[in-house]
Amino acid sequence: MSRLWSEMTRRTEPYVPGEQSGHTGIIKLNTNENPYPPSPKVTEAIQEEVSRLHLYPSPTADGLRRAIAETEDLTEDHVFVANGSDEVLAFSFMAFFDPGRLIRFPDITYSFYPVYAKLFGIPYKEVPLRDDFTLDIAGFEQSEGGIILPNPNAPTGIYEPLDGIRKILEANPGRVVIIDEAYIDFAGPSAAGLISEYDHLLVTRTTSKSRSLAGLRVGYALGRPELIEGLVRIKDSFNSYTLDRLSQSGAEAAFRDAAYFREMTDKVLLTRSRSADRLGKLGFRILPSSANFLFCRHPGMAAEQLYSELKERGILVRHFSRPRISDYLRITVGTDGQMDQLIGVLHEVLAE
Ligand SMILES: *Cc1c(COP(=O)(O)O)cnc(C)c1O
Repeated sequence: MSRLWSEMTRRTEPYVPGEQSGHTGIIKLNTNENPYPPSPKVTEAIQEEVSRLHLYPSPTADGLRRAIAETEDLTEDHVFVANGSDEVLAFSFMAFFDPGRLIRFPDITYSFYPVYAKLFGIPYKEVPLRDDFTLDIAGFEQSEGGIILPNPNAPTGIYEPLDGIRKILEANPGRVVIIDEAYIDFAGPSAAGLISEYDHLLVTRTTSKSRSLAGLRVGYALGRPELIEGLVRIKDSFNSYTLDRLSQSGAEAAFRDAAYFREMTDKVLLTRSRSADRLGKLGFRILPSSANFLFCRHPGMAAEQLYSELKERGILVRHFSRPRISDYLRITVGTDGQMDQLIGVLHEVLAE
C-alpha cells in the first residue's frame, strides 16, 4: 500500500492466475490450456504477417470478426474482439454494469468477477449454488444491475441447459445478462442461439481453451449490435489497438480451420471421458464435466495434500482454498500420455 496510489488502486484485489512454470518436463494440468498446439495454418498466417509489423493493425479487426461471424452464423456487427476474454469481460463490466446497482453471480465461479466488481466499484451479491453445485435459477431473477455467470461454470465444469439460461433472461429484462462461454465448445448448445430473441444477452468466448491459443490472447463477445457498439465505445476510450497484427491474423486462421478445431476438440472429449473413468476407479468423486477439466475430490486424502504430492512429482493441478470447494482439485484434461502419467502417479500417492 502506498500513499501515492489512487483510490482505485487501493481498493482493488488483483486476480491471482494459476502458476505458469518455466520448467520443462512439468506436466501442466492447472490452467485449462489445450494440450495440443494450434493449427499449422495459424503458424503460417502469423509468419506471413510479421513483414507488416511496421504498420498499425486494424482497430476494428474486420478480418477476424468476419471469420468469427461466419463460424457463428451471425453478421459482423454482432461480434466484438479484444485481448483475451478477460479484457472482453473488463470492458463489459464498464459498458453494462453501474456503480450503485447490485449485480449477481454464483458464489462458486470464475474468480475474476469480484476483482472487476471491486475495481469498477460495482456492488455484487453472490448467489449460492445448490448443494450439487448446479445453478439456483430463482436466485438470479429480478436483479437490480445485471447478471454474469459462466456456462459451463468454472471451476465446477457443470453445464446449465439453455432452459435455465432462458429463465434468467426472461426474469431480467432491461439488465444485461452476460454468459461467459469460455468452455462451451466442450459442452452443449451455446446461448448464442438466443441472441436473436434477447437484446440484453451478451455471450463472451475465448480462443484460449478450445482453439489452442492461450498465448495469443484473443477473446470475443457475441450480442446485438447495440451491445457491441457499447463495448467498442469503451475499447476506443481505452486503447484503439488491443489486438495486434499477429493476434488478428493467427486467430482468424484458427477460425478458418474448422476441421482442425473439430479434430482436437474430439480428442480432448475422448480423453476427458477416459480419464474420468480411470479417476473414478481410483476412488475419486468427480462432478459431471462439460469442460476441458475435471473437478474432483478423493475421500481418502485432502485435496491440498494431493496437490502438493503431485507437484513434488512434477504434475501441476489447481487447488482453491475457498469455502465449499477446498476438498476439490481441478485437473485440466491433457493428452492421453499426460493423463496416463497422472493416473500412475496418483496410484502411487494413494497407495502410500
Ligand atoms: C479461461 C477463462 C477466461 C479467460 O480467458 P482468456 O481469453 O484467456 O482471458 C474467462 N472466463 C472463464 C470462465 C475462463 O475459464
